[in-house]
Amino acid sequence: MEPETVPDTSTLIGTALPAAVRARQVNKTYGTGESRVRALRSIDVDIARGQFTAIMGPSGSGKSTLMHCMAALEPVTSGHIWIGRSQITRLKDRKLTQLRRDRIGFIFQAFNLLPTLTAAENITLPMDIARRSPDHVWLQQVVEIVGLTDRLRHRPSQLSGGQQQRVAVARALVARPDIIFGDEPTGNLDSRSGTEILTFLRYSVDALGQTVVLVTHDPTAASHADRVLFMADGSIVDEAHFPTADAVMKRMLRLSAGH
Ligand code: ADP
Ligand code: MG
Repeated sequence: MEPETVPDTSTLIGTALPAAVRARQVNKTYGTGESRVRALRSIDVDIARGQFTAIMGPSGSGKSTLMHCMAALEPVTSGHIWIGRSQITRLKDRKLTQLRRDRIGFIFQAFNLLPTLTAAENITLPMDIARRSPDHVWLQQVVEIVGLTDRLRHRPSQLSGGQQQRVAVARALVARPDIIFGDEPTGNLDSRSGTEILTFLRYSVDALGQTVVLVTHDPTAASHADRVLFMADGSIVDEAHFPTADAVMKRMLRLSAGH
């Protein structure tokens, strides 16, 4: 049988910790027969802790599917995924829900705020549901970082798109998750608000040691990352480290042309 946890090597090699996420031979297939789609093909990847990783690729290349599988939002068809030492591909529903709630933060394109709650209530909602009380010093710091101090009593409808996404970023940061996943979180924002969100995420990595994984098709967004993974047809076909927006765009153009 597969071991449920990664062997703890920290005592052997000093302070070494397992990757934030590790995927091995992950396949994901949707549908059957004629409508069968192989969304992920034998994916092997390690996402380092404390790094900002962007996943890029043409539409339909499998970016969202890979993110959803790594974030324990979707089951894989075959293969194994670990978040830290937990092998999520072996966990049952209740444990998965718990792991998502306690160890993962999400930022989606559609901000996913509850309209009847204030900004402050939306920020602490996941922790309230988990019956965890937020660290108030930390909460205040996060609110300041994302510039929402004077908007806390506003409801989402009273906030701009950029402000709503800042609420979603604060909500993700406040629980200090192991990883924050974002699927096109700047996709609905004007470029200035989008840059703000990316700057907060970059800051959370540099200053707070947060691990961030972002799906995007925007080369400028990807240029905020330490590492960019390029996908095509369900596979990771290339990667770049600290790329410029220009370099990312050139790589994307070649991918779109099929090489
Ligand atoms: P991307 O995020 O890169 O645009 P996706 O991961 O959303 O790509 O999709 C990868 C492939 O899987 C596409 O061919 C898409 O049509 C298919 N797909 C994604 N989600 C589903 C689903 N729920 N049911 C059937 N096919 C899906
Ligand atoms: Mg997608």
